[in-house]
Amino acid sequence: MDLLDTLVSKGLRRELPTREEALAVLSGSDEDLLDVVAAAGRVRRQWFGRRVKLNYLVNLKSGLCPEDCSYCSQRLGSKAEILKYTWLKPEQAAASAKAGVAGGAKRVCLVASGRGPTDRDVERVADTISAIKAENEDVEICACLGLLSDGQATRLREAGVHAYNHNLNTSEDTYADICSTHDFKDRVDTVQQAQAAGLSACSGLIAGMGESDADLVDVVFALRALNPDSVPVNFLIPIEGTPLAKEWSLTPQRCLRILAMVRFVCPDIEVRLAGGREVHLRSMQPLALHLVNSIFLGDYLTTEGQNGQADLDMIADAGFTVEGTDEKTMPEDRAEAGDDLAAVGAPAGGRQDLVSVRRRGTGTDLPPNA
Ligand code: SF4
Repeated sequence: MDLLDTLVSKGLRRELPTREEALAVLSGSDEDLLDVVAAAGRVRRQWFGRRVKLNYLVNLKSGLCPEDCSYCSQRLGSKAEILKYTWLKPEQAAASAKAGVAGGAKRVCLVASGRGPTDRDVERVADTISAIKAENEDVEICACLGLLSDGQATRLREAGVHAYNHNLNTSEDTYADICSTHDFKDRVDTVQQAQAAGLSACSGLIAGMGESDADLVDVVFALRALNPDSVPVNFLIPIEGTPLAKEWSLTPQRCLRILAMVRFVCPDIEVRLAGGREVHLRSMQPLALHLVNSIFLGDYLTTEGQNGQADLDMIADAGFTVEGTDEKTMPEDRAEAGDDLAAVGAPAGGRQDLVSVRRRGTGTDLPPNA
């Protein structure tokens, strides 16, 4: 049986591939790329049909973070010209969330910069959730507030939070290369705290930070071991003013292979195409829908995504459907169980023309993009 047949067969049985098989997905040639996409697409359709879940980001607090994550425009010492503001009022956040829900988002992700919330911050978020739910009772709320302290996950669940996001981002071995103010274990602990409190865990990665294939496989296996319900896959947006601004190493082909590998390792888990989709996949975005079953609608935390209507058109044109609030995301029994730049024509120094710092939506007077 060849590699792709083996991976499909395992994916259809929810069986973990070996590390060698996962590595082989990353290292093939462009010649067989469509075969890889088709194989992972079979696994995607088995567990998620042709549904695409839409998620909408609301940045409750932007910039001014004391942590030093090198990929992040909100980090300590960042010179990125992003919007900076402190906590949005509940009604401001609710107005933004409403735009996302109107655009088809099933989940609203409430994000705040910082190492982690104070208990007072958690109460602010609780007030924000009440304001959002007053208008959109059925919307799923995911909170992403950083490292959690004792009792905070339980308080968030009581306030109506459905899921908690905290990404592992990169492998344990390379974590110290991207951040010195907290470590990999801190992140794992927070994911586990959220799960222990009964929250659905959302934890993912960022590719394109100079990591090796082995690092990518390591972080995806570490994620799988945590058994999250959703895995966001970000592709680094190299924002001017951050230490990784010159790190333009991804190609659309590489991104598709990474997404296929994540799908094979996490066959029945929500795999979400997150930041960097437009910047790195570019015209290949629709192919990625055969691998992931979830995307963000509209803008990201500090950068602009493509127009929300373009996202909806892309989904329809590729033959997929937006997942409704009455449709389950997770497969039934899982829910019960609890290159080179020249090669792609990119100019030396990267494609900063593709990166637009967010100037609309929350924290501005301009309407949100959804
Ligand atoms: S990723 Fe989060 S913790 Fe790290 S610098 Fe950015 S906002 Fe701060």
